[in-house]
Amino acid sequence: MAPRTFHIAAIPADGVGHEVVDAGRTVLDALASDSGGEFALEWTEFDWGSDYYSRTGRMMPEDGLEQLQDFDALYFGAVGWPSVPDHTSLWGLRLAICQGFDQWANVRPVQFHPGVLSPLRKADQTDLDWVVVRENSEGEYSGLGGRNLSGRGPGNEVAVQSSLFTEKGCERIMRFAFDLARKRDHPKVTSVTKSNAQQHGMVLWDEVFERVAADYPDVDSDRCLVDAMAARFVLHPEDLSVVVASNLHADILSDLGSALAGSLGLASSANLNPERRTPSMFEPVHGSAPDIAGHGIANPIGAIGSAALMLSHLGLPAPAARVERALGAATAAGALPPDLGGTATTKQITATVLDHL
Ligand code: ATP
Ligand code: MG
Repeated sequence: MAPRTFHIAAIPADGVGHEVVDAGRTVLDALASDSGGEFALEWTEFDWGSDYYSRTGRMMPEDGLEQLQDFDALYFGAVGWPSVPDHTSLWGLRLAICQGFDQWANVRPVQFHPGVLSPLRKADQTDLDWVVVRENSEGEYSGLGGRNLSGRGPGNEVAVQSSLFTEKGCERIMRFAFDLARKRDHPKVTSVTKSNAQQHGMVLWDEVFERVAADYPDVDSDRCLVDAMAARFVLHPEDLSVVVASNLHADILSDLGSALAGSLGLASSANLNPERRTPSMFEPVHGSAPDIAGHGIANPIGAIGSAALMLSHLGLPAPAARVERALGAATAAGALPPDLGGTATTKQITATVLDHL
């Protein structure tokens, strides 16, 4: 039987995005050629990002989404470079894809790896495992607002940045979170807001959460304010399973989660269009890390983990599990990059993961 061929768009974009996407592709290609004909991958690489911007004045071409529309999945590196204002690069590429393709669910597992020292004061934290589900289409990143609203000139500027919460947007991300919780050992969803201080959108969020929770009597649920949740991540993460939060809150909490696991370089993520009308995008949580870009020492674990999420999404759970196991074996064997206190290069870690596939 001919292998199922998946067409993947690689968009390394900026900085360490190139190094870690390279690592992930190496692992995926090795898996595909060793899959006994189960699947094959065909890659198309796009050179979009901040260099492209300096040549063309855009982060990606005007018809960029059309060019991506027919791929089975997108594998993304990181966006942002000192030569381009951060909001220009982010909105011009990553958010343009997420919002353009309505990738409204961003899944960010918080995973602890054997052999990696965590700042949590536990002898062994590898039994901990929770996942942040981030609302990825509205909330605080709605883009609504404006500058110079006072009309009164320099020194008196007023700017407004609005959060948008819709009942439909809240409901779909919560149902997604509850459906995900049902598949986990610990079926529980914790909703995060700051609805004591933000009394419009976040109160709507709370109301929708209560309504959706009632439809899932088999799944535990609770609510927590975001400031308390930050403390809970550090002090009492044991009872977390699925944490659902708005765009901004989940962004911050998932960085905290990855730092607790040992480094920002560890965290993987999936930007999903759950209806599969458009391609979904898989990327490490970290940014382009200009301070270490080009040195060959970027931690590739988040990007390789994101490749595993992509395999699951493509209907290949067994190869995805192989990647996860190989990552765990590599860190347990001491293949650790500088951000985890080791000296291994990106290529050495990738080679160790290949050894353990
Ligand atoms: P963004 O806004 O795109 O999330 P950021 O400003 O939050 O970017 P990052 O680029 O993620 O910042 O970098 C934050 C810190 O984490 C830097 O010191 C960087 O070197 C480090 N870092 C990020 N990714 C990695 C990685 N893959 N390996 C090692 N260190 C990393
Ligand atoms: Mg960041």
